[in-house]
Amino acid sequence: MTAPLVAYVSMEIGVASGIATYSGGLGVLAGDVIRAAADAGYPMAGVTLLYRDGYFRQHLDPAGGQHEEPQRWSPAEALEELATVVRVPISGRQVEVGVWRCPVLGIDGHCVPVYFLDADRPANDDAARSLTRALYGGDARYRLEQETLLGLGAVMALRALGHERVGTYHMNEGHSALLILALLDQARATDSGLPTCDDLARVRERCIFTTHTPVPAGHDCFGLDLVHEVLGPEQVATLRALGLADHDVLNMTHLALRASRFTNAVALRHGEVSRAMFPHVSINAVTNGVHAATWSSAPFAELYDRRIAGWRRDNWHLRQAIGIPLHEIGEAHALAKHAMIERAAHATGKVLDANRFTIGIARRATAYKRNDLILRDAGRLARIARAFGGIQLVFAGKAHPRDWDGKGMIGHIVGAANALAGDVDIVYVEDYDMSWGAALTSGADLWLNTPRPPNEASGTSGMKAAMNGVPSLSVMDGWWIEGAVDGVTGWSIDAQTGTDDDRTADALYALLEREILPVYAHDRDRYLAVMRGAIAFNASHFNAQRMLAQYAIDAYMPQPRESVESDEQQRRAG
Ligand SMILES: *Cc1c(COP(=O)(O)O)cnc(C)c1O
Repeated sequence: MTAPLVAYVSMEIGVASGIATYSGGLGVLAGDVIRAAADAGYPMAGVTLLYRDGYFRQHLDPAGGQHEEPQRWSPAEALEELATVVRVPISGRQVEVGVWRCPVLGIDGHCVPVYFLDADRPANDDAARSLTRALYGGDARYRLEQETLLGLGAVMALRALGHERVGTYHMNEGHSALLILALLDQARATDSGLPTCDDLARVRERCIFTTHTPVPAGHDCFGLDLVHEVLGPEQVATLRALGLADHDVLNMTHLALRASRFTNAVALRHGEVSRAMFPHVSINAVTNGVHAATWSSAPFAELYDRRIAGWRRDNWHLRQAIGIPLHEIGEAHALAKHAMIERAAHATGKVLDANRFTIGIARRATAYKRNDLILRDAGRLARIARAFGGIQLVFAGKAHPRDWDGKGMIGHIVGAANALAGDVDIVYVEDYDMSWGAALTSGADLWLNTPRPPNEASGTSGMKAAMNGVPSLSVMDGWWIEGAVDGVTGWSIDAQTGTDDDRTADALYALLEREILPVYAHDRDRYLAVMRGAIAFNASHFNAQRMLAQYAIDAYMPQPRESVESDEQQRRAG
């Protein structure tokens, strides 16, 4: 007996670095879920959109000003175009949608297909064709039309492709929640009239939802006037009749919450935060994980192959890293660091010193992430660096084209690079993507994470670092609350510093000065032991195999039917 298919529907899926249909953590995580499902032989199919211009290619001028260009890539080289075509009603016309396929193969050759929906077809008008041009570009209408394409298109395409047995639709973030409307259409008992509460109850049995951020901008809201224009009067009537919209607004998170049998946040702390945001709904937590074989650099993959039989098939075996001799960890890391330095030199012209302590800081440049917090007191940082023979900082990360604070942060970092050179050498790598993610998380000596709590739902780059024996220095937020064992897997910035930038920077400097740099400089084996601890305790747990297993057990397996009363509560919730 094969289990029914899980359809994993996501606005972005990071299948590979060269397939530019992702912007950051959400898409990379989606790719890791798909890769883990392929390894496990799990019946799953991914659905996303085909963005021909990707997110954007980032160029920085000498002052650190960000310039954006289309990120052209060749679908024909990376994907297979299928003959399947569906017609999705968007803004009063039928948009013709083609489907491209990318087979993601697991360790035993099991294939999880990812389907990319493509509206750039000659039969469509220009506005429709442009819907699969850019990820997170355009205005509210463009976004709602894209989400319509994704939500309705996913259900229609899977059916047209012959995937009759979709047991569960997994909405990865609220962007794909309009698939609920397509399922309601299918579930409708009679052809006439609006879907009923019973129809909704049947749809709820088939849907699960993962919410990814406590930041309000991450929860799309559309005015019902706009929804009326894009989806038509019948769908608005349905949303109203079933209590899926609030007054004059369609909130995609509320929609997904009200129509899902299971909802989860992406770390334990994020679960608490989400329950406070949506108090009437039951929200579980499945902490994220990263795909071990994808994010282990070549030197560490070789080390694990030699020392930990079966680690690719069973990531829990990474716990055995605790028995790897320290010098072998050091040798593998030296190779990964060397590879990063070479690549950064090639990209930026700046040659870093392999013997200097190097901190990696790569994440989306946006205010709450505080990428530049380590530069808050540049004089103090320079003094600390001087006392330990200098340090190096490697930054990367794009700012959304309209995120002026984020862009300002990049400018601040590049400006500091010019001012500090000598004791603190800084490089900012342009155009952060999955391949840079892999290079930096394996090549740094320390992975720094200083978001303003509680905004970091999970964070996954620190997990990639752990896969490569790179310890984290992090504020207590997201996954790190579960992964932090001080002096064993990394170092934590006291939770008491809260959201105060000065106090957080102060704690960060104190840790560097009194703990981390002295150990790195004078007690090599102790530093290597922390690196090894990051693998044994964190890589063995914060991996995509464990995450998928939790989804399979907690979410995808049919759950005991909840009482009618709690169904009713869920419908009214949000
Ligand atoms: C892993 C990854 C992310 C997510 O990292 P966070 O720690 O969640 O910020 C973002 N972008 C790229 C390119 C990545 O590889």
